[in-house]
Order: sequence, then C-alpha cells, then structure tokens
Amino acid sequence: MITKTRPGRYGEFGGQYLPETLMPAVAELEAAWLEARADAEFQAELARVLRDWVGRPTPLTDAPRLATAVGLARVLLKREDLAHTGAHKINSAVGQALLAKRMGKRRIVAETGAGQHGVASAAACALLGLECVVYMGSVDVRRQQANVFRMKLLGAEVREVDAGSRTLKDAVNEAIRDWVTNVRTTYYLLGSAIGPHPYPAIVRDFQAVIGREAREQTLAMVDGLPDVVVACVGGGSNAIGIFSAFLDDESVKLVGVEAGGEGIASGKHAASIVGGTVGILHGSRTLVLQDDQGQIRETHSVSAGLDYPGVGPEHAALAQAGRVRYVARTDREALDAFALLSRSEGIIPALEPAHAIAELPAIAREGAEQTVLVCLSGRGDKDLEIVMREGPFR
Ligand SMILES: *Cc1c(COP(=O)(O)O)cnc(C)c1O
Repeated sequence: MITKTRPGRYGEFGGQYLPETLMPAVAELEAAWLEARADAEFQAELARVLRDWVGRPTPLTDAPRLATAVGLARVLLKREDLAHTGAHKINSAVGQALLAKRMGKRRIVAETGAGQHGVASAAACALLGLECVVYMGSVDVRRQQANVFRMKLLGAEVREVDAGSRTLKDAVNEAIRDWVTNVRTTYYLLGSAIGPHPYPAIVRDFQAVIGREAREQTLAMVDGLPDVVVACVGGGSNAIGIFSAFLDDESVKLVGVEAGGEGIASGKHAASIVGGTVGILHGSRTLVLQDDQGQIRETHSVSAGLDYPGVGPEHAALAQAGRVRYVARTDREALDAFALLSRSEGIIPALEPAHAIAELPAIAREGAEQTVLVCLSGRGDKDLEIVMREGPFR
C-alpha cells in the first residue's frame, strides 16, 4: 500500500513545488483546514449545506437494463448528476468556500476550462456572500457562452485570459498570479484533487462524502460490498471521492477511466496515467503529459472535464502501488456509452462519466456475475451541443 512519507507526499508523488512567495499561503491553508476538519461546528455547518442546498445524499440507482446490455449481473449508479449544479464539483466548491469564510477571506479566485468549476464556485460564493473572480481562457469563453452567462447571473466576475493557448492551463497561471498578489484577502478555490499540498487532501476530504454514502447505500441495496467500483479520472476528484471508502476493502477492485481521445497511439488524448510520465505540474510531482523537453503537451478529449494534462498525485501513487487499475476509453466509446445509458435507463450522463460506463463491457468479460458500482459524476445537459455534432444520434 501507499506509504505517506511526509505530510502531503503519496509515495514519490505530491509535495509543494511552489515559489517561495506562496509557501506561507499553503501553510496558512493547511493549518486552517486541519483545524476546521476537527471542529464539530464546521462539520455540522458543512453537513447542513450539503443536505439543504446541494441535495445530499444523492441516490444510488439500480440499473438493470444497462446491466443486461453490458452483460453484468448488477450495475449501481451513484447519482452525482442529481447534485445541485449538475455534478460532484459542488461538494468541494462549497466545502472550500466555507473554509475560506472561516479563514476570513472574503474574496475567491478560481479558474475554469469548460465552466463547470466556475459555475460551482460562483454558486457557492453567492450562497455565502463571497466575492468571486473566475479566470477563463478567451477561447473557452467563446466556446462556453452559456456557462459564462450562468457565472455572471450568480454574481461572479469572469476575467478573460488572452495569454498562451487561451485555455485552462493559462487560466490557472493567471489565477495563481492573482492569488500571489492578493493572498491576504483571497482564497484560491481549486477544482480537482490536484495542485500542491494540502489541496489534493482537502479536495479528497470534501469529495469523500460520495464514497461514504455509496458504501452505505450499496450495503443496504445488495447486502454486501460491490465487486468493482468504477469512476472517470480527469484531475481525479470524483474518483478519489468514491474510491476512498473502499481502499481498505481488499476484495473490491477499483478502476479509474481516463480520456483516451482519439486513441493513445494517436497522441491525441488526456490519459496522464496510462500515457504519461513523471513530472511536475501546478505545484505537484505526479504523472503528466509532456514531451522530451518536459514541455506540457496539448491534450484532447471530447469531454472538457477530462481534458487536463496531469492527474492528482494520490492517483499516481495508487497506480504505482497497483491498488487501482487505470485504463483509457476513447471519445467514440464514450459517445456510444452516452447513448446506451440514455436509452437503457432514461439518464443522460455527462461525457466524463460516459467514459466509466464505456468500461463496463470489459469488466463483464472478466466476470459476468459481478456487481459494479459506477460514479455517475454529472449530467449531460452541458454536452448536448457536442453530442449533436459528434454523437451517435445524428
Ligand atoms: C470536472 C468533471 C470531471 C472530472 O474531474 P475530476 O476531478 O476528475 O472528478 C468528471 N465529471 C464531471 C461531470 C465533471 O464536471
């Protein structure tokens, strides 16, 4: 298993690869988080918001028609698509916003690619009366008009970034620059289990509610543990959230599904574990997609939420330890799975968890009698335009 050599280290991965100017900020954050997680009042407030505003617990849905279609005995869907704003991201956004408020920070900066994390952050800030600034590449602003408008409706300021490739990676750089400049008043709200310590641990803590609920709900529904738990992996927050409740259950196989894009061999993908190498990205030592010179490679995925050239350090360590098996599914396989779940169960998934659904036939070939728990991380409304253009429904 994984040895935590130092706080914030997962085997050889993780750490804090940051400029000196940010070291006090991450130290302050770590201290505040350790205090908050031990504080019953903070936990009670978080639980109240998760129940009354996010809509937790999310249901566990038995999916017999999907199970038959993929050749499995039983498939259970953990319904993060039914959480407020349509995905699991809200769990961490509202948790971190509560933490920021407790730290006395009245201003939040966040970055967003497709806009999902920006919308979740803007909603959490509106709830708690915090100022919210979201950095977004100008290319993404043009591609994601509806989410830009949602963020503005929710009271956030959206700042267009015109540097570099004008997408997520450049928005991250601008958000970090803002944080360095305004660190006394400002909290940097990260959207996945990535970045320097303590972010991967904080985000995992707030997403672990998925696994705690799913474990209990599965025990009640099938009178036992699942044989396999499957989740899609972008930065890795929904996956670590559901896996965390099963890591110590040796009988439970864990499978993480990355974005295979047009296939690993094509080079056009976002599978940082399956197709990456060890490097440093956004303050953390982890598996990244880079060229021979260590330059971060352009990534591709039909699903914006998986289109990131790195992965959280805990996943890199879980892969190395062999506790979780990581695989990749292509755009085409995800689009087919999107159609399959829509038609078999009346649930339109986001394209990200459609990658997890796409892995089910392969799991069935290893044992048709298995019960498989899938993290359905979000709903597909945001993806309709892409599916209309690319999908099997044309
Ligand atoms: C952002 C997103 C993901 C990918 O992020 P993780 O941190 O890997 O969970 C997955 N599913 C949905 C619906 C998303 O919006």
